[in-house]
Amino acid sequence: MSKNVSEESLSRIRNFVEKYCEKSGTVTHPNKEITDVVVLGLAHHRDTLGKPLCPCRFYPDKQEEIKHRTWICACDDMQIYKYCHCLLFVNEEGMPITEYLPEDHEGRISYGLVKDPTPDKGRPLRNKAQEREDERKNRPS
Ligand code: SF4
Repeated sequence: MSKNVSEESLSRIRNFVEKYCEKSGTVTHPNKEITDVVVLGLAHHRDTLGKPLCPCRFYPDKQEEIKHRTWICACDDMQIYKYCHCLLFVNEEGMPITEYLPEDHEGRISYGLVKDPTPDKGRPLRNKAQEREDERKNRPS
């Protein structure tokens, strides 16, 4: 791991990931290296920005981006669709859940239809899908 991050942030993020897996009915990736890289990126953003901004995206301006809630982990796509494009929260096979995504969403295009094995868990913001789709069209994020 090359990024210099605080032990406090690493521990907070690891703890969050464990709890969020339980809460959302997902697991971390069978390839632990994938999880480690994402956790490190989230911890780095927590240290440098004060928020665990998703590390798997490009932002023209990170400070501006954190004013929106959209990509602070667990992001809107996770809370609305149970979709994690970083592959941090996945099913037992290491696939991201795509069942609830709009059909033209990049996740659906990349991975096809991946059913949710635990539909009784997660998606606390499922009623915000229309707002999210409006945002996706109107704000490049
Ligand atoms: S895609 Fe969302 S849930 Fe997954 S690591 Fe990024 S912010 Fe977190």
